[in-house]
Amino acid sequence: MIKDYDARSFATKGVRIKSNFHSHNYLCGHAVGTVSDYVKEAVACGLETIGISDHCNCPYGGYYNMPAGMESDYLSQFDAARAKYGDRIRILSAVEIEYFDDQAEFYENLLSKLDYLVLGQHRFYYDGAIRDSFCDGTNEDIVVAYFNSIELGVRSGFFAMVAHPDLIFYQHQPVTPFIADAFDSFVKVAAECGVPIELNANGIRNHRFIYPTDLLISLCQKYDAPVVVSSDCHAPNELCDSYMRDLYAFALDKKLNVVNELRLRGRDR
Ligand SMILES: [Zn+2]
Ligand SMILES: [Zn+2]
Repeated sequence: MIKDYDARSFATKGVRIKSNFHSHNYLCGHAVGTVSDYVKEAVACGLETIGISDHCNCPYGGYYNMPAGMESDYLSQFDAARAKYGDRIRILSAVEIEYFDDQAEFYENLLSKLDYLVLGQHRFYYDGAIRDSFCDGTNEDIVVAYFNSIELGVRSGFFAMVAHPDLIFYQHQPVTPFIADAFDSFVKVAAECGVPIELNANGIRNHRFIYPTDLLISLCQKYDAPVVVSSDCHAPNELCDSYMRDLYAFALDKKLNVVNELRLRGRDR
């Protein structure tokens, strides 16, 4: 059985968080606050860079609200935040979205408007149907299909980071050798491609010790994969909360290759 995040508290004193690349806003329908509310909190926390990456539906649909009105409802918020806080912090625009390998044009179009994309594989294709990463990771073949799909996402070059890759263990599917191989291959490819893998504070904030898993940590150590620690905040006061600081200290304690920059592929700022 895969083991969850170690519940002990880490020494957060002296931990300095410089950036956060995964955060939301009210448009997704299950978060609160505007882009400016998150940026204001980031300035107060002393961050040098804040990336807002709200959920966005892909052409296969999804459960989020980021609609066709991206420019008017979402991007306009960045203009307002930059006008007010742009001299104090670097503000990046992004979305968190799934990867489907027949949608290249769609991702290209997003990258023409945004600074980067976060691969958040909440849904993926398997055996003729869309599967849900929270609910459907209940057998070996589906979990392997999930890891294959995020490996393809990394290889696509569209994504600047991979959110919560171990989310698929939400149903506590045991790690078979076949699954271990697929997980290993994904982390190896991410390391080779230089695409950071995320440790996500929501794994401990909302779900209590579901992820990061011990297997993710050991694979990141094995390949010295770049790791980014994210708040995945859905409220501004979660941006640098105790969970985020604890997870950051945990990553340093495990001697992971923590990075504070992403390789942006979208519009240059
Ligand atoms: Zn997500
Ligand atoms: Zn998220």
